Amino acid sequence: MSENAIQNGEDIGGLVVAVMDLNPSPQMIKDGECIIPKCLDALIAFCSSHMMLSPLNKLAIVGCHTKQSAFLYPVPSSSELDDLRPSDGQYELLSNIKNSVQVNVKKLVLQDNQNEIYTESLVAGAMTMALCYVHRLRKQQVGDKKIPARILVISASGDSASQYMNFMNVFFTSQKEGVIIDACVIEKDSGLLQQGCDITGGMYLKIQNVAALLQYLLWIFLPTVETRKQMILPTRVHVDYRAACFCHRNLIEIGYVCSVCLSIFCTFSPICSTCQTAFKLGPLPTIIGKKRGRDRHET
Ligand SMILES: [Zn+2]
Ligand SMILES: [Zn+2]
Repeated sequence: MSENAIQNGEDIGGLVVAVMDLNPSPQMIKDGECIIPKCLDALIAFCSSHMMLSPLNKLAIVGCHTKQSAFLYPVPSSSELDDLRPSDGQYELLSNIKNSVQVNVKKLVLQDNQNEIYTESLVAGAMTMALCYVHRLRKQQVGDKKIPARILVISASGDSASQYMNFMNVFFTSQKEGVIIDACVIEKDSGLLQQGCDITGGMYLKIQNVAALLQYLLWIFLPTVETRKQMILPTRVHVDYRAACFCHRNLIEIGYVCSVCLSIFCTFSPICSTCQTAFKLGPLPTIIGKKRGRDRHET
């Protein structure tokens, strides 16, 4: 029972919201074959394990694609799901999770398959949905004890600097709400998710071998934060704290920051494009590139 948050001797379970990136990025193709179904199997096994640990545990799964994100579990019952009955002896809850994920992934992926091509996966949007779910569940709870919640992101898309602001909003909201963000990225590092895990106290792991995904999930991401303290886990890597500039969405180390709205720019501009502040310039400096005026400062 050490697995769940026990507050004053009372077990209140834990909530895991898994965010699965379903975008078929190059990392998700191995020997000409898409490995997303294998990842989904691992995810279902992980989620079932979580549900088996305690009857009080809660679960939600959000799938994200290039055009939209959607809940894979739980979803309102539909005729497609009602037709799928668990086989004899199978625990109904676990077969419901499996069927629901399979039916809804199919729906999401087929809906997305239109003429327009978007390459970026909407991970930040899916994480926002996950946060809303956590918030709703906590609101519905009776009693003043908040259920501990975690968001687990499984993605192979790498960095998407165009969603920089959305990511940052999600991270700071999670931090405020006490929601932990865990990330398991496949082959390609994501600096932004790394920051989110660091800010909220979650685990960030990059894996090279997808065949071992389930093992990693069960080993590192299944235990709660309390239990993790007693385990020997991979050490935290150096966190890439670069920010994305608001003008080109490039990740930069040094840039200009608007003193009014804190927007970040990679090149100097006399008017902030976010808040329209015009910076008062002193006499033009002779050497351009050095410190210019008192309205801006380098990060
Ligand atoms: Zn820029
Ligand atoms: Zn500004």
